[in-house]
Amino acid sequence: MSEPDRLFYSLETDNALPTIIFFCCIHGNEKAGYIALQSVNDFIEKHKKSANANFYTIFGNKEAYIQNQRFINKDLNRIWTKSHLVESSRKAAYVSEYNDLVEIYNILHLVLKDKKGPIYCIDLHTTSGPTRPFVVMNDSIKNRDFVKHLGYPVIFNIESFIEGALLNMLSDLGHVSFGFEAGEHTSKDSVKEFKLFCYRVISNLELIDRQSFIDDGIDNYLKSKQAKYYEIVFRQNLEPQDSFEMIGNFLNFHKLKKGERIARLNDRIISAPSDYRIFMPLYQKKGEDGFFYIKRISNVKLKVAKLIRKLGFEHLLTILPGINMVNHYTLAIPDPLIKYIPKRLLFALGYRKSVEMEENKTYFTKQERKITALPKLNAFVSPYKYNK
Ligand SMILES: [Zn+2]
Repeated sequence: MSEPDRLFYSLETDNALPTIIFFCCIHGNEKAGYIALQSVNDFIEKHKKSANANFYTIFGNKEAYIQNQRFINKDLNRIWTKSHLVESSRKAAYVSEYNDLVEIYNILHLVLKDKKGPIYCIDLHTTSGPTRPFVVMNDSIKNRDFVKHLGYPVIFNIESFIEGALLNMLSDLGHVSFGFEAGEHTSKDSVKEFKLFCYRVISNLELIDRQSFIDDGIDNYLKSKQAKYYEIVFRQNLEPQDSFEMIGNFLNFHKLKKGERIARLNDRIISAPSDYRIFMPLYQKKGEDGFFYIKRISNVKLKVAKLIRKLGFEHLLTILPGINMVNHYTLAIPDPLIKYIPKRLLFALGYRKSVEMEENKTYFTKQERKITALPKLNAFVSPYKYNK
């Protein structure tokens, strides 16, 4: 199997226009995204005269792709953190994924550097078990507005459970960024779903004129319903030494009954604590997530949350002694006060992640960010070839 190019397509029209970046094979064994993007790229190339955007498609884990593995040494979707970026430039111990990390980072740096228009980052994945397609994203109003009309179930609050995902970094920079899971790794339908999804995104954003979709007979497939929203309430963490197995064949989104047996973890049986839905059950050997529990959020709740976010309701909280805004996305709450402030309220305001930064004080962060530049990764000489 030959090694794919890192930046396997780019179309640069105008820095003032929107930019869309598609990623695939961040997990090496999820090849359907790569196959689909090659067709999508052909479509873009064919209609480039009617393009109103800059397009880039970036390949993820090269070595794992060749070996048909999720990853070789480290999960490439868990290392987009400062400590790994620093570590990657030291080259102390060999980590295959650090090559990918550094190359992708440098491409992103160059791509994002001069762009003035909105940036959309989309990461394509597949799952080890069968599923209907869905969108997974961090909870920001920008992201919500974007996925509203794509017609897929939307799962949010992933940022509270997963550290170091590529999309976390891009979302922290203030860009619209989300993941799309098309179906099972090797299913032909996954390729089809990816293509349809990419066309929907491109068409919804009007990145290519509508007429091009009509000319190619794709137009009829682009209609979609309103999204349904779910939030993640629990993630089953797995350590490398754990022995883990799902009990039975759960379809993604399957509605659980309280007490239903779900999985075996080191000879302990895990049962559903409530009537949640099961999400992304692990049916392959490698992975740090055994499964998640999700629950539906009503559209009414979402509307109320959007309204109180827009009104900047958190500023009212700062009237209480000791509570203050550290910056526009961080709220600091003294520990003795936390029990009086409902978690649901903080969630509704978008404050989903908490870290203890100083003694007796917890910092809650939200995903509404201002656009920030990606700093240069100094220690590395870029292998980036500008294929104009
Ligand atoms: Zn994946």
